[in-house]
Amino acid sequence: MITVRYAPSPTGKLHLGNARPALINWLFAKANGGTYVLRLDDTDTARSTEGFAKGIETDLTWLGVTPDLKVRQSDRTALYDAARDKLVASGRLYPAYETEEELEIKRGRARLLGRPPVYDRTALELTAEDKAKLEAEGRKPHWRFKLDGKPVHFTDLIKGPQTVNTASMSDPVLIRADGSYLYTLPSVVDDIDLAITHVIRGEDHVSNTGTQIEIFEALGGTVPAFAHHNLLTGADGEGLSKRIGSLSLEELRVAGYEPMAVAIMATLTGTSVALEPYPDLASLGNALTLSMISHGSARFDPAELDSLNARILHQMPFETAASRLAALGITSEPVWLALRGNLKRFDDIADLKTLIDGPVASVIADEDREFIAKAGELLPAEPWDLSTWDLWTAALKSETGRKGRGLFHPLRLALTGREQGPELRSLLPLVGRKASLARLS
Ligand code: GLU
Repeated sequence: MITVRYAPSPTGKLHLGNARPALINWLFAKANGGTYVLRLDDTDTARSTEGFAKGIETDLTWLGVTPDLKVRQSDRTALYDAARDKLVASGRLYPAYETEEELEIKRGRARLLGRPPVYDRTALELTAEDKAKLEAEGRKPHWRFKLDGKPVHFTDLIKGPQTVNTASMSDPVLIRADGSYLYTLPSVVDDIDLAITHVIRGEDHVSNTGTQIEIFEALGGTVPAFAHHNLLTGADGEGLSKRIGSLSLEELRVAGYEPMAVAIMATLTGTSVALEPYPDLASLGNALTLSMISHGSARFDPAELDSLNARILHQMPFETAASRLAALGITSEPVWLALRGNLKRFDDIADLKTLIDGPVASVIADEDREFIAKAGELLPAEPWDLSTWDLWTAALKSETGRKGRGLFHPLRLALTGREQGPELRSLLPLVGRKASLARLS
């Protein structure tokens, strides 16, 4: 049985880059009949807010991600305390008393000597007396995990065989001097407790994985499988800091993007799967396996989001659009079919609908006046259907000798008042004879 988790910190709004692990985990879980846990990493109480926590759920729901289980780290401190005690008892977690300034001096000295700025473990040499003295001075310890120093090997489901050399790393601080937990330990404790089988997250976590595998083992937990995906960057290769890519999911929603367009971009950018419309997350999930995620970069291009959004709308079946159309007072399938091909955003439909219902400010150039008058005379009798346009323009062509743009463009300008727009063949029967005649006059 597969169980994955998505573990955002509620310290800000989700953006496109955060949607990537949210969705990759979801698609993997659903394609494999697995369970999806939403874990809010809210141990940083100063920066975590209820508003951000709510926002994360709203964004996930909008994308179509509905977790099977939700947990919060702030509710689970007792589990972390038990793990802490276990690690202290086995000698893997030790108190250290250096202040940030003292550590900075040590790092500076190491750099001067051309050595890596790795923590020197002097705290391990403190006697009980030394510690008592330091505490009497009012110092509070932070707690470090004693790394094994052996290379940690794992097979990443995306990146293949990996080695993390923990010997070149400082023993990580797991507990701050104020007693609060950093992310590293609670994450492992939760992964063990919730029986997480696959940890799928950004490649910025690869060296954490080395540390965390040691913690899994020190706690006697089962080590899950790991998969580290590439991170979305802007077109310039920089982190998603500029333009549309840095927009929050909330902003993309308000800007009127389709959630599927956002989901496809967040998921398929930087994979070997083409950016194409998929009707739903299930079909997107069938198109992607972890091994198709590229080892190189994942460059996000805002123009591709726009194009994909439009393509999704151009293919969207009426049934999919129906409830949103009804909210705009549109209940006719032919109206949707006539207009969808010109949408960039769904809500553009309200404006395009005026081409049917009016008001339309017809444009008739002086040199076309006679032609348009003739067009009015030749309008076929109703009932009208999709063949009416061809019948009418064929008659006009033989009567006036006009063809191509000279024939069609003045008709478009008179009937819609616009240079471009939906196919007149579909529009004409919806406008009807009476209104068409009025626009031609
Ligand atoms: N809260 C961590 C983050 O957002 C979770 C990382 C993980 O998936 O373990 O980076």
